[in-house]
Amino acid sequence: MSSNNIEILEDEPLADLTSFGVGGKARYFARIASEEDASSALSFAAEKGVETIVLGGGSNVLVSDEGFAGLVILNRITGYAVEESGGDVVVSAGGGEDWQDFADLCVAKGWQGVECLAGIPGTVGASPVQNIGAYGQDVSQVILEVRCLEMATGKVVIFDKKKCAFRYRESIFNTREAGKYIVTSVTFRLKKGAAPLITYRELEEKLSCIPLPTLADVRDAVIGIRAGKGVLIRNGYESFKSAGSFFKNPVVQRARFETVERLVAGHGEAASWAWPLPSGDVKISAAFLIQSAGFERGCRKGRVGLSPYHTLILVNHGGATAREIVDFATEVRNGVRERYGVILAPEPRLVGFSSSPF
Ligand SMILES: Cc1cc2nc3c(=O)[nH]c(=O)nc-3n(C[C@H](O)[C@H](O)[C@H](O)COP(=O)(O)OP(=O)(O)OC[C@H]3O[C@@H](n4cnc5c(N)ncnc54)[C@H](O)[C@@H]3O)c2cc1C
Repeated sequence: MSSNNIEILEDEPLADLTSFGVGGKARYFARIASEEDASSALSFAAEKGVETIVLGGGSNVLVSDEGFAGLVILNRITGYAVEESGGDVVVSAGGGEDWQDFADLCVAKGWQGVECLAGIPGTVGASPVQNIGAYGQDVSQVILEVRCLEMATGKVVIFDKKKCAFRYRESIFNTREAGKYIVTSVTFRLKKGAAPLITYRELEEKLSCIPLPTLADVRDAVIGIRAGKGVLIRNGYESFKSAGSFFKNPVVQRARFETVERLVAGHGEAASWAWPLPSGDVKISAAFLIQSAGFERGCRKGRVGLSPYHTLILVNHGGATAREIVDFATEVRNGVRERYGVILAPEPRLVGFSSSPF
């Protein structure tokens, strides 16, 4: 069917649009290529009185086996606008641009600021949602503003960086304003010709043989590290059906951290698995907790399991259902809670579950 010049599909399968490869159908589905398309899709949802969600690359969602009873908007708004500004370059990218292509473009142009974020799957529009980060860099470090359509009204709203309230894997778009906006473009301020960021130990080690690494050297090193961990979704590389990290690194109060430290005595220095925060709380490696609670890399339960390279990555080995993934994640989560009293929160957005499965 069509609505205001956009095609609306019915009962559209979602599994193949996600990196986990599971989940049911969307009752309604629209692919948008412009803000006008987005407005039309929102009007359609309002007429039908159904809930709307936005999908980019589908690399950070877990869709339920029942699917989604509302409208799924697939964001494919593309295009770039580039402006020089002193030693900086200000780039606005369409929310549906592929993030990996964008990071590669910045490196090729000599624009510094996202070289460590190369190889992260997904779209530009999703990058502010969970403030994507890797190898010492967070996208919030270079975001100037985020242009959105408000879902309830269809109005354009522009959020500057401050209003986005970025934190570790967080912004207003996945916390207090979650699900209320469609990000149509993101504007970044990047440095022209600046030296790459090399603060992450693994990256430093990998680049130690290069006297003055370039942006491309850093990007290549990051791609190499990601490929070695099976978290590079690109043709020609081994990867798994997953949503990347399934759990966020928990932030706990100091007293809880000290309890965990006592319980894991003998399993390595805390400095390698916990990071004190300025607030006095401590961020703990979820991967470390999972492993020391007895879940080894590569462990498997039927069609789901942990990646052979990383305990934080839950994998669909083929043919799994969303329910199987949730059950396995619950087992891991319960194991960590029972052993350490720490509750792990899932990172991917859970779509179409009638009640929170965790
Ligand atoms: C193998 C693998 C490795 C990964 N590595 C990393 C990593 O190193 N660091 C990291 O931070 N993340 C990582 N991720 C997670 C994922 O790549 C990011 O979260 C990415 O930004 C998701 O983009 P997407 O377009 O696929 O979003 P989707 O999965 O489509 O959506 C994710 C969330 O964002 C919302 N959303 C998407 N687009 C928009 C939009 N235009 N407007 C409003 N809301 C929107 C969705 O509604 C949903 O809530 C990894 C994932 C995988 C599978």
